Amino acid sequence: MTETNTPTALIMIFGATGDLAHRKLFPSLYRLYKKGRLTDRFAVLGVARRSLTLEEFQESVRKSIVEFTGEQDGLDEFASHFYYQSHDVTDSSSYIQLRELANKLDEHYGLEGNRLFYLAMAPEFFGTIGDHLKLDGLTDTAGYKRLVIEKPFGHDFESAQELNNRLRQAFSEEEIYRIDHYLGKAMVQNIQVIRFANALFEPLWNNRYISNIQVTSSETLGVEERGRYYEKSGALRDMVQNHMLQMVALLAMEPPIKLNTEEIRSEKVRALRSLRPMSQDEVNQYFVRGQYDEGTINGESVPGYRTEPMVDPESNTETYVAGKLVIDNFRWAGVPFYIRTGKRLGSKSTKIVVQFKDIPMNLYYNTDEKLTPNLLVIHIQPEEGVTLHLNAKKSGSGMKTTPVRLSTASKSIDRMNTPEAYEKLLYDSMRGDATNFTHWDEVALSWKFVDAISAVWENTKETTFPNYAAGSDGPQVADQLLEKDGFEWWPVENLEIDNC
Ligand code: NAP
Repeated sequence: MTETNTPTALIMIFGATGDLAHRKLFPSLYRLYKKGRLTDRFAVLGVARRSLTLEEFQESVRKSIVEFTGEQDGLDEFASHFYYQSHDVTDSSSYIQLRELANKLDEHYGLEGNRLFYLAMAPEFFGTIGDHLKLDGLTDTAGYKRLVIEKPFGHDFESAQELNNRLRQAFSEEEIYRIDHYLGKAMVQNIQVIRFANALFEPLWNNRYISNIQVTSSETLGVEERGRYYEKSGALRDMVQNHMLQMVALLAMEPPIKLNTEEIRSEKVRALRSLRPMSQDEVNQYFVRGQYDEGTINGESVPGYRTEPMVDPESNTETYVAGKLVIDNFRWAGVPFYIRTGKRLGSKSTKIVVQFKDIPMNLYYNTDEKLTPNLLVIHIQPEEGVTLHLNAKKSGSGMKTTPVRLSTASKSIDRMNTPEAYEKLLYDSMRGDATNFTHWDEVALSWKFVDAISAVWENTKETTFPNYAAGSDGPQVADQLLEKDGFEWWPVENLEIDNC
């Protein structure tokens, strides 16, 4: 099936021998190609230091496709569009060669000067590459020029601003596509559809009917080989500054006047601006942290964080964060948004639970059990779908109630697996749709919010670390955070989607 919207582009991937390129970018490009969303008018120019022949590089592309998609239909033809230059990005002299190769490919494939520069590399190189792309004329092109940039975008507000100012010398804000791959996930994109396309929900989406919202993103994996990076990042910078706050913004934003990039982004910015800032004294009342100890996951013993490779044996880095966000606007005054995210937890799951307020009077107190509140659960990953938790009459005589669920899994809607986030984001960046990328204003506000927390945590040694066992639900302090408000976390394992 060929779509009408089939962009042409030279896709220049910096870091083309790396993990992201092999696991996500090459397979995503292949899927786009198979769906006809990429025609023959595209070329990929891979850049990395190791010396590879063209054949070796194309072979590495083929291998990645077979490994990660399990397919090989049309693979030779697809891989023939891939080119490689061995190049140290800190070496100024090799950019000229890169420009010449880019110009040749442009002409050969009729790419109309369209260029997508994808930085799939460590962030310390982002600024240098941006400088050279402009200085050595790679951005001097007749078509569009866009920069797609991986996380992390800075380490705090100051470094993010410095990076942004530097990149803005070569690219305008509209040309910078900052990846937050959560925004490419089908069910994250579905948040706005659920909210704005259902008469059932929009009238209830406020502090009159919602009691609290819980966003959970838990992983079973530890830090693996990323100890060096993670020691400086921690869960706060790695997950909260970007993915968690982006989900909160989508849940909290006002309906945009139109579904276009500018309107959606500006509503998200307004939602982030409404986050109540915390004073230093308030940080530990609203946010708690954890670090995993050894434990058991899926029957296997796993080490504690402090004994992972490249991790300080007395590390103060948090591998778990839970927090209460207060949104100071008319819609949300009085409704806490709770977030939690961590590594080495009992299950891998990203879910949003919207808990509705109890009905004003319970007519069914004659039953043994209390009525359970209505919940709307949005399953982001690994399951994708929506569940509505209601109360209904228990079968048999009498008027006892029982909780029931209405579930829809996206597999049952589309009858296929939803596309991988990177596939959608690559396609959007080639089409020039920046809706699902983060605007600088969002990045800046998120960093400012998170910086207030890190300023306190980095200056106080957490003496209770490690404070949760690998394979558990996280530290007790996270439960206490909600107990103070009379709530509790909805256990993710009890919210699984029903088979539809
Ligand atoms: P990686 O596996 O370490 O790959 C880094 C790439 O950069 C390699 O191709 C490496 O190739 C190249 N490289 C390093 N120094 C270079 C230099 N001086 N000049 C030219 N090339 C150089 O890293 P990754 O996991 O793919 O991550 C890349 C980026 O994506 C990072 O910003 C990361 O935070 C982000 N990210 C990754 C994932 C993921 O799933 N992997 C997910 C989200 C975000 P040579 O050694 O051959 O030079």
